[in-house]
Amino acid sequence: MHIVFAASECVPFAKTGGLADVVGALPPELVRLGHRVTVYLPLYRTVRPFLPESYEYAIRSVTVPFPHYNRFAGVVDGGVRDGVQYYFIDCPELFDREGFYGPRGAGDYGDNAERFGLFSRAVLEATKQLGVPDVFHVHDWQTAVLAVLLRSVYFFDPVLRNVGVVLTVHNAGYQGWFPPRTTELLLLPWEMFTFDKLEQNDTFNFLKGGAVFCDYMTTVSPTYAQEIQGAEFGSGLEGIFSRRHWDLRGILNGVDYSQWDPASDGHLAAHYSADDVAGKLECRRDLLHAFGLEQVAETTPVLGIVSRFATQKGFDILAAVADQLAEREMVLVALGTGEPYYESFFRSFAARYPGKVAVEVRYDDALAHKVEAGADIFLMPSRYEPCGLNQIYSLKYGTVPVVRATGGLEDTIEEWNADRRTGTGFKFSGYHAGDFLWAIDRALWVFANDPEGWKTLMRNGMGQDYSWEHPAREYVEVYEEVQRRRG
Ligand code: ADP
Repeated sequence: MHIVFAASECVPFAKTGGLADVVGALPPELVRLGHRVTVYLPLYRTVRPFLPESYEYAIRSVTVPFPHYNRFAGVVDGGVRDGVQYYFIDCPELFDREGFYGPRGAGDYGDNAERFGLFSRAVLEATKQLGVPDVFHVHDWQTAVLAVLLRSVYFFDPVLRNVGVVLTVHNAGYQGWFPPRTTELLLLPWEMFTFDKLEQNDTFNFLKGGAVFCDYMTTVSPTYAQEIQGAEFGSGLEGIFSRRHWDLRGILNGVDYSQWDPASDGHLAAHYSADDVAGKLECRRDLLHAFGLEQVAETTPVLGIVSRFATQKGFDILAAVADQLAEREMVLVALGTGEPYYESFFRSFAARYPGKVAVEVRYDDALAHKVEAGADIFLMPSRYEPCGLNQIYSLKYGTVPVVRATGGLEDTIEEWNADRRTGTGFKFSGYHAGDFLWAIDRALWVFANDPEGWKTLMRNGMGQDYSWEHPAREYVEVYEEVQRRRG
């Protein structure tokens, strides 16, 4: 089977979050299972360093029409990596910019509808010359619009009309809302701007369009697939998600253990594994040093956070108990970047408790690995979490997660049971600061008072296997189902 991925992020070329990890890791796994996979990405500024000095255009120019002008995009041959063919859509006036979706810290670019509309159309055009797939796999709002185009203005295309589309919703909280005139901008008929198709609260909603017009939808965990069918997590699209629940499946993300395994992780001061965790102590020292926290007793647990600093991630309930938490025997290190409100919360938290709380406000992959390895406890109090990767990395690194029981956090972490010696972490359900603190306290208690139990907890986590092979097979089932339906 030939699957074409159209996505706005992909490791190592462009990443802001888990979407990039999935688009980076799933295609090579599908290739290992015997399929042909092509990945299309915008040629962002961050992609340029990956191109050879004299790179080739697979197509010099595809024409993408807009109401009063045409744009012309090149398709750069990004070569083959791990069996996956990469192409980059080159339209410098739209993609050669500082950010992927907006200038740093200043919201979104005003022309995002045009940028991702152009990208999706250029992908459709490119595949007609470079290889028509059996299935398109699109991701989140940015490329959901490909499904809309395919089932409307491309409806009669003899080459593309029978190709299926799978939409993966990595985060239903981001939908791509644009003004109604976007309908005209993308040369779609106004009849499509209705509540049963593209319209939502008088906006043109990219994700909704994808959800309506794709053949099949997946989300990144089974619990999240249930949650988005309700008002709290569906963010206004719960109607379409629940109406199409037969075409909606939760497939838990895998993680890339070639990058995230303490036995081989190149970012760490020492290596360790479930059989011999001695190296973790060295990683802990290295981590504390990196955060400028010296002379921390070995009996003091290190709490770690690596996250986008966004409302979704639940730091308002951390803020509500920050001072109580600081009274506990612990140190806290946090790495993240994002909304100014949370950046300043973390900065002021660290300023109030020097030597005890430290924060690095930046994006730093190497440091993220050090936190996973060097911390004893990992905090993820997310308000909602479609899948979440960091808690899965934490398991592998013997860093015990304390999580809110939502989405993928609910599916991947099992509550510690002291009697049966089962479980991999600590969970709380209600979105309440007190419940979060209580879950942290349970973790701190086991760390301080039950060292054997703590070792078992670590080992239980390190023994979990979230490699990509199993989810990749589930995606193949979905692609096959779509192919069957399209005949
Ligand atoms: P989301 O996609 O909602 O941001 P995930 O847990 O699915 O959350 O994925 C987050 C990914 O981004 C992980 O690989 C994590 O290590 C990485 N990450 C997030 N913030 C940072 C940061 N400040 N520095 C380095 N890596 C980060």
